[in-house]
Amino acid sequence: MERLVYCDYSATTFVKQEVLREMLPYFSTNFGNASAVYSIARKSREAIDISRKKVALALNCNSDEVYFTASGSEADNMILLGIARANKNKGRHIITSKIEHLAVLNTCKELEREGFEVTYLNVDKNGIVNLDELRNSIRDDTILISIMMANNEVGVIEPIKEIGDIARQNNIIFHTDAVQAVGHIIIDVNDMNIDALSISAHKFYGPKGIGSAYIKRNIDFDPVILGGHQEHCKRAGTENVPGIVGIGKAIEIANLNLEDHNYNISCLRDCLLKEIKNNIDGVIINADIENKLPGSISLSIDGVDSRNLLLMLDMNGICVSSGSACNSNSIAPSHVLTAMGLSLKQALSTIRITLGDKNTMEDIKYIAYVLKNVVINYRKK
Ligand SMILES: *Cc1c(COP(=O)(O)O)cnc(C)c1O
Repeated sequence: MERLVYCDYSATTFVKQEVLREMLPYFSTNFGNASAVYSIARKSREAIDISRKKVALALNCNSDEVYFTASGSEADNMILLGIARANKNKGRHIITSKIEHLAVLNTCKELEREGFEVTYLNVDKNGIVNLDELRNSIRDDTILISIMMANNEVGVIEPIKEIGDIARQNNIIFHTDAVQAVGHIIIDVNDMNIDALSISAHKFYGPKGIGSAYIKRNIDFDPVILGGHQEHCKRAGTENVPGIVGIGKAIEIANLNLEDHNYNISCLRDCLLKEIKNNIDGVIINADIENKLPGSISLSIDGVDSRNLLLMLDMNGICVSSGSACNSNSIAPSHVLTAMGLSLKQALSTIRITLGDKNTMEDIKYIAYVLKNVVINYRKK
């Protein structure tokens, strides 16, 4: 049988068996519309309530502050649009960073078209935002700060608690895109002074097409998806009950195993980095610092074009990505890597390896072996 080594866990994960098992009855047996009054509908309603409590427990917020959405992108959109529009009488200035996911950056562009002004903070060579630059960017009319908890392309973790403190001191609403953080970082929205937060189940062994937005009580918010009264009238649409059950179970499991999971994956990562450093020259490890997601590796490899390299790795059954998944069909360099100061050439020779649950030490040896040979062959051409 052909070998398949999946190392693109930041793009998406498989669904864990325990998660799938909990979801299955809600596709067929317990299919009722949660808004109805009869008993199978009540089962849907109860399942949603339980899941909402699980998400709230994982974030340390109240369950009436948790809203289910159709994706992480939708959570980012609804939070940014909903909060900006509802608070525009207080001011029209927003602060974000240059390395956000496109779900945040393109929503900020939309807000600029609506008359908001957006400041995009720089990052240093490790991808970290500068807190002084943040402080200096704050104006009397700043209503919202949005900085991601962990970056999807290079895995850097931002100083969220410090940013939350600055936002709180200045009476500014603080949103964080925590889609990459769940399952790796303990999230406590109270302790971190977070007012709004986005997550997505398919990044932590749950199903695709289900996300969640935390929005703190008393934050003014205009709904974006209009219709029925679901989700406390803040997000219309018949509930995706299996998905909601899935995200609840997945976040519960993620937090239960967080430390062991991080430890195991960082061991694999360290081993892979060592193999690569010892066996392939001309490799730069991007954001090579402590503040990183445990399984995330970003490599710029001298003299290769990342897209060709990906195809050659794929022929050997290895799944990795170049920059971010959304960019893998375009030749434009990643906005994250260029913000970190990489040259165009370096950015276009960068691959992202993200390790996860099913990876083993054999995988690591295999990746190191294949990568070495592929790079040697490539450079011979
Ligand atoms: C994947 C991702 C998203 C988008 O989530 P979807 O559920 O795929 O829409 C947003 N932000 C970050 C940081 C991500 O990694």
